[in-house]
Amino acid sequence: MTRNNDPILVVGGGLGGASVSLALARKGFRVRLLEQAPEFGVIGYGIQLGPNVFPMFDRLGVTDAVLAKSIVPKAVLMIDSVDAGVIARVPTGAASFRERFKHPYIVIHRVDLHRILLDACEAEPNIELMPLTGAEYFEDQGDHVRLRTTDNRTIEGAAVVGADGLRSTVRQQMLDEGEPRMVGFVAHRTIVPMADVKADVHRDEVVLWSGPGFHIVHYPLRAGTLFNIVAVFKTSTYLERGDIASYRADLDHTYRNSHPAMKSLLAMMDLERRWVISDRDPIRHWSKGRVTLVGDAAHPTLQSLAQGACIAIEDAVCLAECIELADGDIAQAFRAYENARYLRTARVQYESRYLWDNFYHLGGIEREVMRNAWSTRGDGDVLECLGWLYDGIRLPQRKGAAA
Ligand SMILES: Cc1cc2nc3c(=O)[nH]c(=O)nc-3n(C[C@H](O)[C@H](O)[C@H](O)COP(=O)(O)OP(=O)(O)OC[C@H]3O[C@@H](n4cnc5c(N)ncnc54)[C@H](O)[C@@H]3O)c2cc1C
Repeated sequence: MTRNNDPILVVGGGLGGASVSLALARKGFRVRLLEQAPEFGVIGYGIQLGPNVFPMFDRLGVTDAVLAKSIVPKAVLMIDSVDAGVIARVPTGAASFRERFKHPYIVIHRVDLHRILLDACEAEPNIELMPLTGAEYFEDQGDHVRLRTTDNRTIEGAAVVGADGLRSTVRQQMLDEGEPRMVGFVAHRTIVPMADVKADVHRDEVVLWSGPGFHIVHYPLRAGTLFNIVAVFKTSTYLERGDIASYRADLDHTYRNSHPAMKSLLAMMDLERRWVISDRDPIRHWSKGRVTLVGDAAHPTLQSLAQGACIAIEDAVCLAECIELADGDIAQAFRAYENARYLRTARVQYESRYLWDNFYHLGGIEREVMRNAWSTRGDGDVLECLGWLYDGIRLPQRKGAAA
């Protein structure tokens, strides 16, 4: 594998695929970025990003652009769905947070983040963006790869990086595991003008209203002009494609006992689209020969830690580093990459599951016990608990290089 020779084929132009393309191009590798959709980066709601992603943005050269479009929330609050009491608080806007983690916690419109990454990709002569190019099948020929597209084209390259999300075609061919693990929850997402929000809710914080079998997350976007709302809940209809009336009935039933402010927000929800919440069990190996995976294709996680995109971007930078260090030995680079990543990403997956079941969605006495236990925790304790995640990663280095 040589730089500026055979391109690396990145399948999927989401946040993970755009980041890995950029990370590789910044190191002088040629990339072809294949996206099945006619356009890159059109789906967008809000996204939260932890401080661990900023050293990666520094490497990609996009930190200033990202910060210009972001909001640093005053805090991340977990609030009781019945009495609106604060259960837990992460002081993201406090000086203590910034001192501890060196980088901010932000919320940003996903379209803005995607646009920043795609603009940077477009400005890179080493990257060719290929919309309307769905990957169907790869063949590892030993010294190069051949990829067949859904419209029967063949594209050749040095390697395949599957960044094709939760239902990855590349992963399916490599591991043949079938459907992701569905947890019986669904999500609806909406962005509304801030001026239209009549409910008496926190507007400068990320708020998670938590209740038995459901939660709602909301936060401001674009200089506080927009308000992002996500409603997540358990429902027996999670596998059914319903209409707006049936989704509305589901919501009304699920949140019937919740706080009036929550109900007011739910009345604003756009119910056109529903996401079925899923993850997969962690795995140690997601590479084979000249083919590997990044992001949700490698380690899809529940949203409890709001880290899926963050760890996809960590993957991207780490993978580019490993390819550079392996001096052309792609298979070795991919082994080093998954070895550097699997424990961290598995921890995000496991802890997200733990929080989902034992923190976010409890009812009855379990909920009271959890709330009581959290009432004694100070800010310092909360920040320490997040250290393993927000302190970020050490990227692989050449042996003997200074730390
Ligand atoms: C409700 C919700 C809230 C979330 N909130 C957060 C948050 O606050 N913070 C956070 O960090 N993460 C969050 N996440 C997780 C985050 O969205 C994902 O982890 C992240 O987007 C994964 O990026 P990706 O590039 O790996 O995959 P994706 O974003 O799924 O991108 C995959 C891309 O591949 C393309 N594709 C698929 N198949 C093919 C093919 N065969 N050929 C070519 N192209 C293909 C798709 O069209 C898509 O563009 C949230 C997720 C959900 C559902």
